[in-house]
Amino acid sequence: MNLLSVSHLNVNFQVKKQSLAALIDVSFTLNRGERIAIVGESGAGKSVLGFSIVNLIGKPGYIASGSIKLDNKELTTMNLRQLQEVRGKRIAMIFQDPMMTLNPVLSIGHQLVEIIRSHTKITYKDAKNIAIEKLHKVQIASPETRFNQYPHELSGGMRQRVIIASVLLLNPDIIIADEPTTALDVTIQAEILQLLLAICRDHGVALILISHDLGVVSKVAERTLVMYAGQIVEEGPTLEIINDPQHPYTQGLLNALPQMTLPGHRLNQIQGSMPPLSERPSGCAFHPRCPYATEACKQQQPKFIYSGVSSVACLMIENMIDEFDRDDPVQS
Ligand code: SF4
Ligand code: MG
Repeated sequence: MNLLSVSHLNVNFQVKKQSLAALIDVSFTLNRGERIAIVGESGAGKSVLGFSIVNLIGKPGYIASGSIKLDNKELTTMNLRQLQEVRGKRIAMIFQDPMMTLNPVLSIGHQLVEIIRSHTKITYKDAKNIAIEKLHKVQIASPETRFNQYPHELSGGMRQRVIIASVLLLNPDIIIADEPTTALDVTIQAEILQLLLAICRDHGVALILISHDLGVVSKVAERTLVMYAGQIVEEGPTLEIINDPQHPYTQGLLNALPQMTLPGHRLNQIQGSMPPLSERPSGCAFHPRCPYATEACKQQQPKFIYSGVSSVACLMIENMIDEFDRDDPVQS
């Protein structure tokens, strides 16, 4: 059984009298201990998806239809008390800016002890010992000293370590990390990703890593979902997607990565930009930016099909598979 299963999820934003689609028919599963990535440019709907999973999508957003099940229990119909049990304890979230989660006027230790004691009845001394042990685990040097410090006394990377420690306190089954390293400089980014990877592996925690950077996720996630304009356009094993991207949008994302560009060559940014919700193009939403777009792409919504490498929503690939099947009837 899947740990998490999202099926046919539609999320809308109510803007004045208009209902705008932010997520369209999103389906995917996550197994226990598995690490997946959700990638795409900003505005693709990645964070909306992350928030929707724990039903934290705030107004004017709302879940219009679809299902999100954790261990076969429906999350979309849970009341607030039931959801609070799920948040933190079963599914924890890590954001780009640790200051969003840390309270600036309380010491690190105070905040960690509070988290432990709000869920378990133990003495302050025992809670403190657990907190210090977790700070050790996230490789914070001299945790006894850090325990008494305030968030502003720590570097950005150190603060993100504290957040990871705080998430660990409640032994979640799933961590959703939304651009956890984007605000950090490159060397620290790599350290935090390695730490997240090690923590998930050691504790059997499943990870949903949200990132705009395919290069970042390739080091951590076993499976990758590529999102464009609120839809999943490609999904498959991360290595296959990096080595042999099928969807023109995924190809564009890879070509735009500095580490994929040869020295002396210019970065190939995808032309144009992500459409706003109110201006979603007809047919395949990527068609105004796609180098392979045809007239049919402007009219027709591609189906999500298996290409032999990954699953993908693109008419060009659909047609190629159809032709292949026609030429080789034994295969079909
Ligand atoms: Fe490009 Fe058409 Fe495929 Fe969309 S369906 S990605 S426009 S080729
Ligand atoms: Mg985002």
